Amino acid sequence: MKDSDKLFTQQLLEKDRQYVWHPYSRVNSDMPLFPVASAKGCYLNLHSGEKLFDGMSSWWSTIHGYNHPRLNQALHQQIDTMSHVMFGGLTHQPAVDLAVRLTQLTPAGLDKVFLCDSGSVAVEVALKMAIQYWNSQGQQRSHFLTIKNGYHGDTFGAMSVCDPVTGMHQLFSGFLQENIFAEAPQCGFEQTWDDSFFENFLHKAQAHKDSIAAVILEPIVQGTGGMRFYSPNFLKKVRQLCDDYGILLIADEIATGFGRAGKLFACEYADISPDIMCLGKALTGGYMSMAATLCNSTVANIISQGEAGVFMHGPTFMANPLACSVANASITLLLENNWQQQVMNISRWLKEGLSTCEDFKCVNNVRVLGAIGVVELHQPVDMKKIQPLFVKHGIWLRPFGKLIYTMPPFISTQDDITMLTSKIEAVLRECYS
Ligand SMILES: *Cc1c(COP(=O)(O)O)cnc(C)c1O
Repeated sequence: MKDSDKLFTQQLLEKDRQYVWHPYSRVNSDMPLFPVASAKGCYLNLHSGEKLFDGMSSWWSTIHGYNHPRLNQALHQQIDTMSHVMFGGLTHQPAVDLAVRLTQLTPAGLDKVFLCDSGSVAVEVALKMAIQYWNSQGQQRSHFLTIKNGYHGDTFGAMSVCDPVTGMHQLFSGFLQENIFAEAPQCGFEQTWDDSFFENFLHKAQAHKDSIAAVILEPIVQGTGGMRFYSPNFLKKVRQLCDDYGILLIADEIATGFGRAGKLFACEYADISPDIMCLGKALTGGYMSMAATLCNSTVANIISQGEAGVFMHGPTFMANPLACSVANASITLLLENNWQQQVMNISRWLKEGLSTCEDFKCVNNVRVLGAIGVVELHQPVDMKKIQPLFVKHGIWLRPFGKLIYTMPPFISTQDDITMLTSKIEAVLRECYS
């Protein structure tokens, strides 16, 4: 690196330390931080000149890679037409196109679309919909039933249905709505089903059935709350139970949506439709923040007929045309690219490449579903040590707790994934031998 570049990088980092918060961090943190100059395809280019393969897809989002010509083009076109207009009383083609496509792609029945700012907000919107659904029928139902190890976002409503331990409910006790938590599904994705796996959930539902507005969960893949893959039978049972009790089902597909788990939407594994579905993350191909909450006509009509008669939400940047345009382009690309083949290939390469990690003493479990690979250790990683090691080896991963995990871009080649998994192995060896 040239001296002038070094100085620039150093100053950038100093200012960052002085003025900027990072996710889940303290100010004046001494944790390693890497300035990115640009990104292209599956790679991040650091100011230091290093090139990192992004095994995180910027938190599940950049499924087509960075700086994609087609996505760039969609944004250029839109920005020269109209960057934003309010959505109250106005509409536009990018939003209508997107809503139509989302209703066509998602499981049957989800045919009303609320476009909002981010995943957490999409969850807030879903919770509000459920509460208003009951309110419109003259019932005050404000409790949600969910499963432990879940993650649904960082705003207060969303936090209240995150895992109580990893979601740090203690810290906000008194401020968070108290919800009902069943045990996380104990039946793994491919494990043989037995109805006893559903007992705890059933018990919680029975005990509270008259105060529950909705069940909310991440279908099949519990992401940030533990990277757990569970049996589609569990989800089928939840759907059946919700039908039996007349409770709504909210599927949070913010992480799993758009093919990541091997189906376009993870609900398809159980062949079910939720009443409400949240989408986000990969929705815009990782270009901008946008999310969507879809619901079926029953929910929409009941809310619309109720006392208030309107759904009480409307963010300033609702249905932002730039975000809608790039989402439309990303969905077009996804369908053109034969995502099923892409994800199946990545799945196979991850399985092959990560299998050797199973022999490591520090490793508890290795699992792969769709384009998601997880190496679970016995002990939490030392981030200060492991993060620079990944960078040294040319890969970008961001473990949390005991979990080293990857969800690479769908455009990753076999060479990319082989390199990624061999580097994970190398880092484990360096860290734990
Ligand atoms: C990331 C995530 C969210 C929150 O989305 P943000 O855009 O970060 O607010 C909610 N639910 C799930 C399942 C997620 O993975």
